[in-house]
Amino acid sequence: RNYTYQGNVAQRLHNFSAGPAALPLSVINQIKEDLPVYANTGASVMEISHRGKAFIEIYEGAQDRLRRLLGLSSDWHVLFLQGGATMQFHQVALNFLPRSGSADYVVTGTWSKKALKEAQVIAPVRVAASSESTQFDRIPDPTTWDLDPEAAYVHLTSNNTIAGTQLRQDLHLSRPIIADMSSDFCSRPIDLEPYGLIYAGAQKNMGPSGVTIVLVHDRMLAQQQAGLPPILDYRSHIDAMFNTPPTFPVYVVGLVLSWLESQGGLASIQQRNAEKANRVYAAIDAHDVYVGATAAADRSQMNVTFRLASSDLEARFLEGAAARGLVGLKGHRSVGGIRASIYNACDDAAISALVDFMEAFASESA
Ligand code: PMP
Repeated sequence: RNYTYQGNVAQRLHNFSAGPAALPLSVINQIKEDLPVYANTGASVMEISHRGKAFIEIYEGAQDRLRRLLGLSSDWHVLFLQGGATMQFHQVALNFLPRSGSADYVVTGTWSKKALKEAQVIAPVRVAASSESTQFDRIPDPTTWDLDPEAAYVHLTSNNTIAGTQLRQDLHLSRPIIADMSSDFCSRPIDLEPYGLIYAGAQKNMGPSGVTIVLVHDRMLAQQQAGLPPILDYRSHIDAMFNTPPTFPVYVVGLVLSWLESQGGLASIQQRNAEKANRVYAAIDAHDVYVGATAAADRSQMNVTFRLASSDLEARFLEGAAARGLVGLKGHRSVGGIRASIYNACDDAAISALVDFMEAFASESA
């Protein structure tokens, strides 16, 4: 039986959660079909060896699909790690930050601030730019970044999940970029040339929590620090599985990647994401009751953030939304307001339901 949106709480709702976030319904149904027996293994995918043929096919299949979608050349390596994006905050610096050198950090939100803090445990790093003084409502103009030509790398967050801003332009910097793409990975094609490493926790655009996708380029491996614990050394995870990977999340990531291919790949997903985001931003801009939380030029296509005149009004908005089966719209606890996370799997029906509700709520409160 396929679940559909019925407006009944026992059914699937229009889910705007920031992460773990909505997955494509076809993926959920495929998982259901693959339980309790995966292919002809006699067991579910959670119950088979990670070294066996069936799982190796799943693992390598997911890597191959990601390579195809992003157009990765052979000098890029695809890793499925654990510990979340938060572990990458530290692991990146542990591997690539020379103990007597420096790296540049662009601080555009709560998560980049945390990345900075984890790097500072290893060695002093520089803040090349920050928008903290305006509550991360924008991305500092890249032409103003104070970059060190000697930096080991430049760390940035491509999409700020909490504030709702996104770095929308291509950058060409003299040092390799290490990017936290947790909340916009595979939402658009990437020009890979400026990057040295890209990481993304899966639980927004790629699958369930429990796996972090890391793309690492040979240019970074060439400047690796010595004496690392093997589990935290990226090189340990290249080519073969170093230890038991998070098998179930990797399997789901593989399904999501197939779904992405079936949608026409990243260019068409980007087009759809732009259309979806434009519809929600248009509803914000059309009504005085809503105030966008970010600078218009830096608006995220993944996390749409806005405020209403008072927290009471916001509470009424959330209540009204929930009554229509729209959930997950409460802003992050650190900033409040409203946040609609509209990742790849958020479909047009969810956007229509949200925009219809925003229109109705605006006329009611006018
Ligand atoms: N970076 C970004 C951009 C995020 O949105 C998040 C989680 N919301 C994190 C890092 C932290 O991820 P995790 O909880 O998987 O460590």
